[in-house]
Amino acid sequence: MLALVSGLAAGASIASAQAPVETLARRGWDALDNGRPADAAAAFELALKGAPGEPTLLLGAATAALLAGREGAARPLLQDALRADPALAPASVLLGELLYRTGDLQAAIATYQNALTHAPEHPQITRRLERWQKELELHGRFTQEVGVHFTVLFEGPAEAELAARAVDILEAAYWRLGAALFAYPPDIITVVLYTREQFRDITQSPSWAGGAFDGRIRVPVRGALQDVREFERVLRHEFTHALVRSIAPRHVPYWLNEGLAVYFEGGDVAGAHAAVAGAEGKLLPLSRLEAPFADLDAARAGLAYSQSAVAVERLMDRAGAPSVVDLLTDVGAGVPLDKALERHMFISYDELQESLRDATP
Ligand SMILES: [Zn+2]
Repeated sequence: MLALVSGLAAGASIASAQAPVETLARRGWDALDNGRPADAAAAFELALKGAPGEPTLLLGAATAALLAGREGAARPLLQDALRADPALAPASVLLGELLYRTGDLQAAIATYQNALTHAPEHPQITRRLERWQKELELHGRFTQEVGVHFTVLFEGPAEAELAARAVDILEAAYWRLGAALFAYPPDIITVVLYTREQFRDITQSPSWAGGAFDGRIRVPVRGALQDVREFERVLRHEFTHALVRSIAPRHVPYWLNEGLAVYFEGGDVAGAHAAVAGAEGKLLPLSRLEAPFADLDAARAGLAYSQSAVAVERLMDRAGAPSVVDLLTDVGAGVPLDKALERHMFISYDELQESLRDATP
């Protein structure tokens, strides 16, 4: 681990390696508090040279890596921290969530079970673990249909045909949307087909949700064979979220994420233009749409998706997909959205918001 990071200090703006470990650690936590993950990472790397393997420093370095969108780097740091101090609950919380987000439900459960042996009353860990065990138990009854890049879980023989269809749709989307966004997720993506009740229970989604992505693609499928186009639209929408996460694991504003998903789901963005044009005076500020849409009612959620799609189309028209990918990459690494927009789209956040008023395609 230390060999891996030893070159990092050379360009760091943080003070010399002679500073005491405690000073460096304090700088690291301050930088995290102030939203400067790169400075925090540099400070914790230096501190770890003075105190190799110190678990709270490893936790700090892992947190900095997560906030900078480097999930792959965070995972071994958290594992090292827990090897050194298995009772370090914040490291367990982060590692469990990270494993769950990447679709490794069993490893996430094992992490939290282990954490509870040291902190049996931990409320957050206890609650999450209960939900995950319920999910594992449900999926234990499911059957698998395996593709090259996707594994589809489904409950009974009635869904077997649908599962095979889902694999075909998603494998096609993998190449088409992957080429559009220059992203090919390397790991197998798990897709779970639920009844509507199971979907609500597992995802806790609002009633208007037609699918979800949280490391796995989750879709309620009643009647899907009667409306294969809608099934395809939902799968492509959720797969776009998987692509976005592979480019930018964190910090992506909801409007950008949902806008891309609507843009690439294969419906027409014309409907979104009509909705935005018809909502004059009721448009939601994009800054509000950076946060989840889950607490919006169905009508306002519909408008939120439409606005998001129009905003993304504006960006695509303006600078093309490669620049949108650059924008995502920067935002995922912690660059503020307004700065990333100016850097890659040559547009201010206000101008983008303003451009939605003129919703003609
Ligand atoms: Zn979505």
